[in-house]
Amino acid sequence: MSVRVLTVAQAAAWGQTLGLPRLDAQVLLLHALGRAPHDRAWLLTHGDDWLDDSVQATFANHAQRRLNTEPVSYITGQKEFFGLTLHVDKRVLDPRADTEILVEWALSCLADVPTPDLVDLGTGSGAIALALKHSRPDASVSAVDASADALAVASANAERLGLQVVFHYGSWLSPLETATFDAIVSNPPYVASDDAHLAALKHEPLSALASGPDGLDDIRVIVREATQHLKSGGWLLLEHGFDQAHAVQTLLANQGFVNVQSRPDLAGILRCTGGQWPKMK
Ligand code: GLN
Repeated sequence: MSVRVLTVAQAAAWGQTLGLPRLDAQVLLLHALGRAPHDRAWLLTHGDDWLDDSVQATFANHAQRRLNTEPVSYITGQKEFFGLTLHVDKRVLDPRADTEILVEWALSCLADVPTPDLVDLGTGSGAIALALKHSRPDASVSAVDASADALAVASANAERLGLQVVFHYGSWLSPLETATFDAIVSNPPYVASDDAHLAALKHEPLSALASGPDGLDDIRVIVREATQHLKSGGWLLLEHGFDQAHAVQTLLANQGFVNVQSRPDLAGILRCTGGQWPKMK
C-alpha cells in the first residue's frame, strides 16, 4: 500500500481491489482496528474515519498474507464454530462451516441417548468435541489427536470455554484401550496425497489433510478400529472428500455397519457418511 492515509471505507475498498473477498477485507480490517469480527456495522458507521498509520500497515500486511492463501482465522487467531469462538493457528486445521453438519448429525443420533459417551478422533482445534460438549453437557466427551501441538490448542480452547473434554494423545482409537462409545465422530485427513488442491491449503498441517494415494488410508483404519469401540446401536460418523461417499459407504457396509447413509455439505455435496453398529438382538 502507498503511504497515503486512507479512511476506513477506502481501506476496505482497497482490500477488495487487491482481490480479497469483501467479507475477508472487512474482517481483516476490523482485526487491524482491534474490533470483533462480527462488528461489520461499525465499519459502515465509521467509513469516513481516518486510519492510524499502524492500523493501516497491519491491515496491508494481513491482506497480503490472506492473498497468499493463509486462512483468515490464522491471521485473526480465531474462528466461530457451532456458536463457539475457538482460538486457532497453523498447528491445527482451520475449522470449516461444513463440519458443523457432522456435529448436527451426531446430536440428532444421540437425541434419545441419556448421558452419552462420545469421542472425536483427530480433534485438531477441538471444534467437534467442544461443540458436542457445549450442546450436550450431560455427555462424557473424549478427544484424540496424534499431534501434541493440536492437543495443546484443543485443551486451551476447552479450558477457555469452560468445557470438560478428556484429551488423549495417539493414533485414532489406539489410546482408548477398551472404552466404548455411543458415537465416534471424526473429520480425518481425506485428501489424496498427490491432489493438486493441497497447494491451496499449504498453510494448514499436511497431517490433517492428506491420507495416502486415494485419501482413504485413515478412514480405513478408523472404520476397522471403530468396530471394537462402539456400543450396540452406536454410530460412526465421518467427514470425507467430495467424491468419497460411495467408497466410505462400502467400507462401512463391508465392516458390518447398518443404516449406512450420507449427508450433504453446505454446497449440496455428500460430505459425511455414517453407520450404526448393529443392535444386539
Ligand atoms: N475440507 C478440507 C478441504 O478439502 C479438507 C479437510 C480434511 O482433510 N479433513 O478443503
